[in-house]
Parts: sequence; C-alpha cells; structure tokens
Amino acid sequence: MIELTFDGDVTTERQAVFERSAARWDQVVNTGFDPIDVRGATLTGVRIDVSIRPIDGANGVLGQAGPTILRQGTELPLTGIMEFDQADVVSLETGGRFEDVILHEMAHVLGFGTLWLRQNLIAGTGTMDPRFVGTSASREFADLDPQGGNAVPISNTGGAGTRESHWRELVFGDELLTGFLSGGVRPLSRLSIASFEDIGYQVDYSSADPFELPNFRNLAMMGITEAVRICDLCRMARTEPVVLGAEAG
Ligand SMILES: [Zn+2]
Repeated sequence: MIELTFDGDVTTERQAVFERSAARWDQVVNTGFDPIDVRGATLTGVRIDVSIRPIDGANGVLGQAGPTILRQGTELPLTGIMEFDQADVVSLETGGRFEDVILHEMAHVLGFGTLWLRQNLIAGTGTMDPRFVGTSASREFADLDPQGGNAVPISNTGGAGTRESHWRELVFGDELLTGFLSGGVRPLSRLSIASFEDIGYQVDYSSADPFELPNFRNLAMMGITEAVRICDLCRMARTEPVVLGAEAG
C-alpha cells in the first residue's frame, strides 16, 4: 500500500487527488512488503511525504519528486517525496492538468525512470536512441510495434529529470509516462505496467488502460510540438535515493 503524509498547504481537495493517484498505483503495483522500522516508524508499503508550499512563484521550479530511501535487497522504494510549488499547483489546477501530473510524478517515486540506471535497464545512454531493456516492457513494446526493435525507445531530449527516464514522446504520444503531458487523455498502458515488473514489483496487467501507438497525424493533432515547448514536467527536480542503512541521520 502507498501511504501518504501531507504538509503545508495541502487542502482536503488536493489530498483527495493524491489519494486517488495512490489508489490507482495500488491497483497496478504491489507495494505490500514485510514491515520494516525506519526512524521510529513501522512501514509496510511505500510512504510518500507530500508537501505544497511556496518555492519560487509561478513557473520556475515546479517541485521535486522521487524515492528517498530504498529497501535493502530489492532496492525498491521505501519512502519518497512529492513537493510542489504552491503557485504552480494553482496554474496546473486551472489548466486541468494537476491530477495527471500527480499520477505521473507518483510513478517516478515508485521507481519509473528513477531506478532504471542503477538497475542497468538502459542501453545506449547518451546516444540519440536510448532504450529501456527490461524484458517485460520489451515484450509489450513488441506487441505494440513488431518492427520496433527488441527494447523500448526512451526520451532522448530534455534535462536530467526528463531525458532517459520516460517513454519517448514522438513514439508514445499521450501515454501517461512520456516526458510531456500531451493529448487530452493520458492512458496508463500495459507497457508502463510491464516496466514496473522489470524493476522488481508484482504487477496487475488487468488494470491497464487501452493504448495503441499514435501515427504522425495523431501526434500532430495532440499538439505534441506545443506540449514539448510548454513542458511542465521538465521543471521537476529528482531525488538521489539511498539504500536503507546507508542514509545519513
Ligand atoms: Zn516525468
């Protein structure tokens, strides 16, 4: 189970958005592990500390999200954070994108894109064609595109928190876990669920949304170029997780 704590200006309405995202991810990945004591608290799943507070006003930094402490052995997240700049949250809410941003960023806390490098799941890093090589995701990609090669294309543009930690935008379009929120509906595909299996979770494929690869006309109609220019998600910073026992303090 994903367990949330809230700090700062997290209204009941906003808490409900985080709770809905946690419930969605709880359908997809099983985070029920053996109880473990961390700094006086007994954790049985993943605890995510959520805060919304002033950082630097609208635009600029959107916030920070990622795992902070990993379990020994599996090196799956035990705790993580999701911090957002209050002014940006208001504009995401006004634009109707807040809920999808939370759903997307929670995936990073669970390890999507944030644990790939340390688990040696990226081939071709630093090239124009980096690929995610996990076997489950590669199988799902082959179902979507039999000619696509034997690993999944991941983002080859963007800053440190974007590049090589998402599915590639111009291949996957409006899928929830590309680097940009494009389109009006952001499906959570079997491909994304498979990637969580590749990093070590038990997953439930039956909770996937229907998804197929967009063609170029679909991409244009989703305003992909426009989305790349806006890129709210590029303004998120990432954490540097440490394995339990190795953390300071
Ligand atoms: Zn992201």
